[in-house]
Amino acid sequence: DTVFGRIARGEMQADLVYEDDRALAFRDVAPQAPTHVLVIPRKPIARLSEAGEDDEALLGHLLTVAARVARQEGLGDFRLVVNDGAGAGQSVFHLHLHVLGGRPLTWPPG
Ligand code: AMP
Repeated sequence: DTVFGRIARGEMQADLVYEDDRALAFRDVAPQAPTHVLVIPRKPIARLSEAGEDDEALLGHLLTVAARVARQEGLGDFRLVVNDGAGAGQSVFHLHLHVLGGRPLTWPPG
């Protein structure tokens, strides 16, 4: 179980900006940009590399939700980040997409 699992089940508060039957989006507690929202599936998939073929539609839905949230937040340009594994910076092992925007974003990321 993870903190995002608890948020998905409504057991822990979050600053929600979107939710439906399969996904929810809420503001990151330690924002790295003026807009920093996390999009998660309700299904507790630990990390992207553990998603299966039967999750394809859900993964597509998460991308659609991310774009919807970016539009809702008034972002023209934005970045999506998925950290897969501790070595890539993942700290919460419940799949999540970071939606970042509201400032110029440089490349490559750190
Ligand atoms: P990652 O490092 O990719 O696993 O991202 C985890 C993110 O979750 C970090 O940006 C944290 O700031 C954020 N975070 C951790 N706990 C919470 C929480 N309770 N509500 C919102 N964001 C959180």
